[in-house]
Amino acid sequence: MSSQPNLQVLFRREEIAATVERLAAEIRQDYQGRHPLLIGILKGSFIFMADLVRRLNFPLEVEFIRLSSYGRGRASSGKVKLVQGLRSEVKGRDVLVIEDIVDSGLTIAFLLDYLRKRKPASLKLCALADKPSCRQVPVAIDYLGFTVPDKFLVGYGLDRDEQFRYLPDISVVEVKAD
Ligand code: 5GP
Ligand code: MG
Repeated sequence: MSSQPNLQVLFRREEIAATVERLAAEIRQDYQGRHPLLIGILKGSFIFMADLVRRLNFPLEVEFIRLSSYGRGRASSGKVKLVQGLRSEVKGRDVLVIEDIVDSGLTIAFLLDYLRKRKPASLKLCALADKPSCRQVPVAIDYLGFTVPDKFLVGYGLDRDEQFRYLPDISVVEVKAD
């Protein structure tokens, strides 16, 4: 590492755990007896997904999808593509997408459109965090953890240039122009 990053904790692990439990309770209520397909967006959602599914109490399936998005920069390019696709059939399934952060909305709008074309029985979105001030396209979030300011967040699966994903709290990291 070239310089010491400046991290400021925004959500501690206890608060994250309580929020994940709140979301899980809402999902348990809505999906009881429906055997949904949960699709996590890699890599950022992997810890959130792992914590969330362990709080659900009904049969479900887990899939992951990988989309190209920010790369190493800060701004969303608006050009989204599937890097790693789905192995499961979406048609007729109750699909719940698990995303880390909805920012401009371009990434998730692309994926929801992609999935909708495959005719799921239902399609909903669960996001750990929402940055509404950055929105470029409208996105309906059915299950939302935190509304966050326009700051760059790391930890709990979220990275900056592949660093900090392992940190159990969510912090704001100062983004230096380099
Ligand atoms: P969007 O297409 O909505 O602009 O970008 C969403 C994606 O950008 C998210 O899936 C997430 O991976 C990434 N992203 C947006 N904001 C942040 C942030 O504050 N921290 C990190 N680590 N990733 C972010
Ligand atoms: Mg992402």
